[in-house]
Amino acid sequence: MNEHSNPLGSRTAEEIIARDKRHVWHPYTQHGIEVEPQVVARAEGASLFDANGREILDMISSWWTCTHGHAHPKINAAIARQANTMEHVMFAGFTHAPAVDLAATLAGLLPGDLNRVFYTDDGSTSVEVAIKIAYKSWVNRGETRRTLIAFDGGYHGDTLGAMSVGRSSQMFGAFKDLMCDVRVVPYPATFEGDDAVEEREAGALSALEALLKDHRQSIAAMIIEPMMQGAAGIRFCRPSFLKRVVALAREAKVLVIFDEVATGFGRTGKLFAMEHADVTPDLVCLSKGLTGGYMPLAATVVHDRLFDLFLSHDFDRALPHGHSFTANPLACSVALAAIGLYEEEQTMARIAEINAHHRTMLDVLAARPDVTQQRVLGPVLAFEVGDDGAYQSEASRTLRAWYLAKGLNIRPIGSTVYLMPPYCITDEELARAYVGMIEGLDRLASGSL
Ligand code: PLP
Repeated sequence: MNEHSNPLGSRTAEEIIARDKRHVWHPYTQHGIEVEPQVVARAEGASLFDANGREILDMISSWWTCTHGHAHPKINAAIARQANTMEHVMFAGFTHAPAVDLAATLAGLLPGDLNRVFYTDDGSTSVEVAIKIAYKSWVNRGETRRTLIAFDGGYHGDTLGAMSVGRSSQMFGAFKDLMCDVRVVPYPATFEGDDAVEEREAGALSALEALLKDHRQSIAAMIIEPMMQGAAGIRFCRPSFLKRVVALAREAKVLVIFDEVATGFGRTGKLFAMEHADVTPDLVCLSKGLTGGYMPLAATVVHDRLFDLFLSHDFDRALPHGHSFTANPLACSVALAAIGLYEEEQTMARIAEINAHHRTMLDVLAARPDVTQQRVLGPVLAFEVGDDGAYQSEASRTLRAWYLAKGLNIRPIGSTVYLMPPYCITDEELARAYVGMIEGLDRLASGSL
C-alpha cells in the first residue's frame, strides 16, 4: 500500500466513529463511561495503524490471538488461494481437504493420543463442546454425572457452559442462576521469588482431593487453563502443580479438559502449555492462535477412546452439536498456513528470544516500589501495580488510554499489567514497548497520567 493513501478510502475516522456510536455494541464495554474507540485502518507485523498512519504496537496481540503478526504475506496468500477454490460448504455429510489436513496436522502436533478433532467457531464454543462431550460420554456409559470442577479465577468463555466453569472469574454474577453445577478449587498463582507457593499448592491439592473423594460419582470432568490463567490476570502455576492435579483426576477417573485457547501455539513458550508438565488431557480446546489470529476457528480434540463411546447404530448416542460454519475451509486453510510458519520462521526460537528480553526486565520491575509479583512465562511478561483488582478499574482504564495515546496497545486487567506481543515483534519494537510501559508506570506513580 502507498503509505500516503488513506486505507479508509474517502471516509474519515470521525465518520466511522459517528456510525460506530450510532449502531455498534462493543464487547466487554460499558458504553456509558468508555471513551471513543480507536479506529484501526490497517495492520502489519506487530503494529496497527490509524487513519493518519500513526502506529500502535499491538502488545497484547489483539486479545492474544495474533501470533506471527498482522497481514502476514503467506497467510494472506493462503486465504486468497482458498477463496478462489471454495469459501464454504456445510460439514455434515461433506468434507474437504483443508479440514482433513488440519485435523491430521493437529493430531500429529498434540502429545499423546489426542487424535479426533471436533471443529467449532471460537474459544467459548470449543469449551462448550468439551463440556458436552464429557457429560454425554458418561450418559453413553449409562451414568449421570452433572458436576464439573474448575479453578478459582479460571475463564473459559462467554457461552453458558463456559461461563459456568468460569463462574469464579467475577465477570458473570448476573448469570449465576442460569449456570450448571460447578465446584471451584483454589488456584495457587505464583510469581518470581514466591516463597509461599508450596503452601498454597498443598491447600489447593487437598481441596481437590477432598472434592474428588466426596463427589467422585457425580463429577463429569475437571477443566483447567494449563500453566497460565489468562483473563484472571495472567496468573501462572508451576508445572509440578499441573502434573499433580491431572494425576488426582486420573486416580478418581474424572475426565480432564485442558483449555489451551489462550495458551496454545507458543503462548507459554512451548507449542502447547501441557508440554511444560509432560501431561496429556482427555480433551483439549484450541482457538485464538490456531489461525494465527486471523479468523474465528476452534477445535476440541479428544482421544479415540472418548470418540468410540459415541459410535453406534443409534443416533441417540451421537453428539448432537454443530455450527453453520463448522470447519470453514477459509479458516482451516489459514490455520494450516499459520501452523506451517512455526517451522519456516523458526517461531519457537524467536519466542525464546522474547522470553530472554522479558527476563531482563524482571530486575527493573523488582526495583520499583509500586510493582509486585513480576513474572515471565514464554513470551509473556506480567506484574501487579496498585491494588485495584477490578477488571475495569479507573486506574487501569486511565493507564490503558495513556498507553494508547503513546502508541502502545497495552490493556491492563485490573491491577495486572502485561505484555503478550505477536512473535514477529522486533528487538527495537520490544525495547520501545518497555520504555513506554515504564514511563506509564512512572506517570501513574506521580499522579501525572
Ligand atoms: N478460554 C480461554 C482460556 C480464553 O482466554 C478465552 C478468551 O479469552 C476463551 C476460552 C473464549 O474464547 P473466545 O473469546 O474465542 O470465545
